[in-house]
Amino acid sequence: MAHVNRQIHLVSRPTGEASLDNFRLVEQPLGEPRDGQVLVRHHYLSLDPYMRGRMNDAKSYAQPQPLDQVMQGGTVGVVATSRHPGYAEGDSVVCFGGWQECSILDPSVPGTLRKVDTTHVPLSAYLGPVGMPGVTAWYGLLKICQPRAGQTIVVSAASGAVGSVVGQLAKARGCRAVGVAGGADKCGYVTRELGFDACVDYKAHPDPKAFHAALKDATPDGVDGCFENVGGMVLDATLARMNAFGRIALCGMISGYDGEPIPMLQPALLLQSRLTIEGFIVSEHMEVWPEALKELGTLVATGKLKYRESIADGLAAAPQAFLGLLKGRNFGKQLVKLV
Ligand code: NDP
Repeated sequence: MAHVNRQIHLVSRPTGEASLDNFRLVEQPLGEPRDGQVLVRHHYLSLDPYMRGRMNDAKSYAQPQPLDQVMQGGTVGVVATSRHPGYAEGDSVVCFGGWQECSILDPSVPGTLRKVDTTHVPLSAYLGPVGMPGVTAWYGLLKICQPRAGQTIVVSAASGAVGSVVGQLAKARGCRAVGVAGGADKCGYVTRELGFDACVDYKAHPDPKAFHAALKDATPDGVDGCFENVGGMVLDATLARMNAFGRIALCGMISGYDGEPIPMLQPALLLQSRLTIEGFIVSEHMEVWPEALKELGTLVATGKLKYRESIADGLAAAPQAFLGLLKGRNFGKQLVKLV
């Protein structure tokens, strides 16, 4: 075990697009766990779009990421030293360790870390389909869209960590799953590998009318459930395809994360089609996590839920990989491998 802990700090807040200057690689002495604590060596860091929002000092559902401190975020790793009776050296854990090589954590604080079984599910999957993104997909689809067999579900950012799970869960419930993604490679993966019925390439149809026409072709019976990750043109076109009493899970609006307002072109459609739209934050629904993780874990362990990872190598690569995620350069769950 090294005696230095390398970390990535947020050192300035972006105006507009985030940039590499907002981050700094810092070396800190690695402390020793005290009684009741464990030292975790991180194997993978999770990079997630929500981190962009926390870089701003603005009103939101979560506190801003403090300056000159470790970037916060989900991690998986292995207990290197334990001074807690419930944990042993070598235990695999998922924790909120942040962008650093190691963290010292107190398991008695609820939600700090939990042991995971890597016999049938790889460690990294606990940051993806069997972790926060998977539960996000599960909650938004099942609790908000409430899909029934034969219905059509549209999901944007369909090749990504959340979207890929949404479509596969919808298919498993007998729905027509239609994705929206950027580029032929991602759309091909969504239909051929993940089994969606169709995927519309928004980059091939930059004009809103052309995109609407392509979405119409992919949704001949209209849309009953929309799982929205992007906003803007994609949401406008989907709203225009919604059937009466359709349901919209508003999960993310990544097209506006750099701070530009994203207007909704025709809010009157909400009224005309009697739609239900509900924004949600997955961490506010902890009551469903055990049930969701059980289903997702079983599906991954049995090979029924497919997923893909984009893996950046080494802590220093984290900021660049994060900026890439915000530009769609990731293909599947974006991780940083440390060990
Ligand atoms: P992804 O793995 O899907 O990666 C982000 C993807 O978003 C990119 O690959 C890209 O796909 C797409 N994207 C990026 N920029 C734009 C843009 N300007 N316009 C359109 N698409 C863009 O990320 P996640 O699956 O982790 O997250 C998906 C969404 O879910 C995000 O909006 C995130 O904030 C939200 N989320 C919400 C949670 C909640 O509790 N409400 C929890 C977790 C995630 P492409 O190349 O196809 O455009």
